Amino acid sequence: MPDYVIIGGGIYGCAIAWELARRGEDALLLEAHSIASGASGGLGERGVRANGRDLRELPLMRFAYDIWPTLQDDIGGYTGYRRLGHLLLIERAQDLAAAPARVWLQNRCGIESHLLNAAELRALEPNLSEDVIAAIHCPNDGVADHTSTTRAMAAAASRLGARIHERSPAIGLQLRDGQVVSVNARMDGETTEIPVGKAVVLLSNAHAADIVRAHLDLQLPIWRMWPQVMALAAQMPPPMTRLIGHAHRTLAIKPLPDGRVMISGGWRGRWDATTGRGEPIADQVEGNRAEAVAVYPALANLPVDEVYTDRSEMLCVDGIPVIDTLPGADNMLVGVGWSGHGWAIAPAVAKLMAAWLVSGERPGLLRPFGYGRFMTINENR
Ligand SMILES: Cc1cc2nc3c(=O)[nH]c(=O)nc-3n(C[C@H](O)[C@H](O)[C@H](O)COP(=O)(O)OP(=O)(O)OC[C@H]3O[C@@H](n4cnc5c(N)ncnc54)[C@H](O)[C@@H]3O)c2cc1C
Repeated sequence: MPDYVIIGGGIYGCAIAWELARRGEDALLLEAHSIASGASGGLGERGVRANGRDLRELPLMRFAYDIWPTLQDDIGGYTGYRRLGHLLLIERAQDLAAAPARVWLQNRCGIESHLLNAAELRALEPNLSEDVIAAIHCPNDGVADHTSTTRAMAAAASRLGARIHERSPAIGLQLRDGQVVSVNARMDGETTEIPVGKAVVLLSNAHAADIVRAHLDLQLPIWRMWPQVMALAAQMPPPMTRLIGHAHRTLAIKPLPDGRVMISGGWRGRWDATTGRGEPIADQVEGNRAEAVAVYPALANLPVDEVYTDRSEMLCVDGIPVIDTLPGADNMLVGVGWSGHGWAIAPAVAKLMAAWLVSGERPGLLRPFGYGRFMTINENR
């Protein structure tokens, strides 16, 4: 009987499997398809960014800054982590007025941040549009290869004894006296009941919300979206050298190692029942590209190479995840609703969740993410 049954083989499931295994704990991971087949895999790279992040996640990001540089050596596999620095571009006076407050708070949280004027900014990024008047610079932000990192994390967990089962979807739970006592899964074409020694860790993204509704009769205030990512044709060198975000445009830009420019930031595809996946929408592709060209005019010359909207993510109503046990299942820890920015903090959150599982005590850094925040919101009327 495994002590811990982890449901979901994205970055969260794999990182927690590794964290538990390196503590000598007995963990079994169920993945419905293959490792990194969900939000933690796919085109390009993911931003490891503190700049502009939700303030409640900044302490987690500070912790993650300490983990990312040595993670590749720690797991013995490629992460592709590169500390490029991030620029949050500013074009409007109202965003410039707000910038010193954010710079102050980010620095207070240990996130090195500087407000650059137009000349300082051009010295770093000469190809920017003249409309960009300033930027917040976080030199310690960067990028990582999400697909490789997730797979390397699973391999590292497996080497330490964690049992990783791909093509093995969890299909149900058995609960007794407020505890999950077993998980049903489809393994090798058979329905198998896996007894749970200590706890379940539910990290299956959209599926987690279905499990919670079906077995605990609880609604999580989260919903599914299909974020768009695209790569423009390669140009050496790319027009930018840093990770780029924007104070008011829906935009993220990353120069990829192969010379292509990756563009994303919040544009979306839509679910297509005939293809069974998220598919791109033409005006979203054009909208995202137009935002990128507005700040880097040279990008107008680069055709779109690839566009994907097939990796879904769960958004939470207040823009931060739910990381907690839920009423009715005391021994099931849930992590869901990463709201489009769960990658960067994953190694830190996984470490904290593993510590919680083993010690039984919620780490202080995870307190802002409790389910109770939705229950108490009405109490002070
Ligand atoms: C296009 C895109 C761009 C993003 N960009 C960034 C970024 O730049 N920076 C950043 O910080 N974050 C970013 N994010 C967010 C980040 O990638 C996600 O928050 C993170 O990868 C979520 O990891 P996860 O392990 O929770 O989910 P997933 O990676 O989706 O893993 C869940 C796994 O559960 C499996 N599963 C589903 N049902 C079952 C079942 N019944 N039984 C077993 N397994 C099951 C799925 O197959 C999947 O592999 C982005 C997300 C997307 C989609």
